[in-house]
Amino acid sequence: MYSLTNARLFDGTRMLPRTHSVTIDGNSIIAIDAAVGGETIDLGGMTLMPGMISCHFHADFLLFKLEKYFAGEQVGKEMPPGVLMAMGVRQCGVLLESGFTGYIGASASNNIDASLKIAIAEGVIPGPRIRACSRAVGTTADFNDSKKWWQVFTQPGLDIRADGPEEIRKVVREEIRCGAETIKIFPGGGHGIPSQLRNMSREEMEMVVRTAHERGAKVRAHIGHKDLILECIEMGLDIIDHGDGVDEECIDAMAKAGTYWVPSQVYSKVALELGWAHPGDDHLYQKVRRMLPIAQKAGVKILIGDDYGGVTRDFLPDDPLDHQIGNYGREFAFYGEIEGLDPSDILSWGTKNAGEALLGEDNGKVGVVETGAFADLIVVDGDPLADMSILAKPQEHLKAVIRDGMMVIDRMPSQEKRPSNFSRRRQAFFA
Ligand SMILES: [Zn+2]
Repeated sequence: MYSLTNARLFDGTRMLPRTHSVTIDGNSIIAIDAAVGGETIDLGGMTLMPGMISCHFHADFLLFKLEKYFAGEQVGKEMPPGVLMAMGVRQCGVLLESGFTGYIGASASNNIDASLKIAIAEGVIPGPRIRACSRAVGTTADFNDSKKWWQVFTQPGLDIRADGPEEIRKVVREEIRCGAETIKIFPGGGHGIPSQLRNMSREEMEMVVRTAHERGAKVRAHIGHKDLILECIEMGLDIIDHGDGVDEECIDAMAKAGTYWVPSQVYSKVALELGWAHPGDDHLYQKVRRMLPIAQKAGVKILIGDDYGGVTRDFLPDDPLDHQIGNYGREFAFYGEIEGLDPSDILSWGTKNAGEALLGEDNGKVGVVETGAFADLIVVDGDPLADMSILAKPQEHLKAVIRDGMMVIDRMPSQEKRPSNFSRRRQAFFA
């Protein structure tokens, strides 16, 4: 047991007045502002907040060359499973070093999310809390299957295709058997994929949602077109990815159904800057920015996260979508530029909302600083609500990362002694 004292506290929703103490025992927060004994670490007025959580994360994207994707060539996702897993291990380190203690997978090849989760639970590597995603579930001749059929072009571990409700049901159950807690589907294009055609029938989509929910899994969908967004919300889909066509009608439906929305507009901005955008994309980008404050006000549960690894550093000198330390945290200041959004709301997208989406309803709480919640926390030198850009500068501002109660990164000014239950073995990874 130990307490972090004299801390400014962002609890996942707001910055509380004055300073506070938070007591951690095992992997949980057991008390706030209550003297329950144990050793103490004085934070000297630094900010204690939930570890951030990236909610659209591809652990195995790193060398994914989008310009080749558009040209129908090998894109860099066809690597051997072991290489892709190495990318996942690397990305877990980048997340922790960036102050991100969790991620929600948005498709992973070769069961990599589920495997990372086991490796972390077994203490093989330090890493974030993970909600594991399936492979990308699609259908024959959908846009992920539209390359020249007479050439060899496969991403064997990544994409899985099935046609008709019965085949789809089997695929969903097999993904769940292999550890998927979220099923990723591609009902239609948009957001970088030019096709706006329907790629899954209504019956197929309904089967995915029903089968996943029966087994406690969530469903997320890459989706841009308004009609398909409304259809997905109506059938109980959990997370809308991208949602470039979101308008007031969609917002109303999402708010009523409790659907999460990952706007992922960093990719859209990069695509516009690099000239990869399709006609109308600039209009959609501006429209999503107008919709975000309306969605926040309506109570839509918006999430942080984007398609990191989807471009390479060959294109932009300081590529915002590269998996580099600090990049994930840029999203807060990026959305903070939008008029009508409050910094505390945006920070809750990557903490409280994200924690709810990661764990679901009955598996405990994360992404908040509350008694009983899991102790996935970070210490930030500065006020992230006054200047959100500090969340993208972990080398300067991130002073500690606590994962499941254990300090996996510790850069705080030296104390006389550290609580004895911190794992020396894990600290050694980030010395
Ligand atoms: Zn994605």
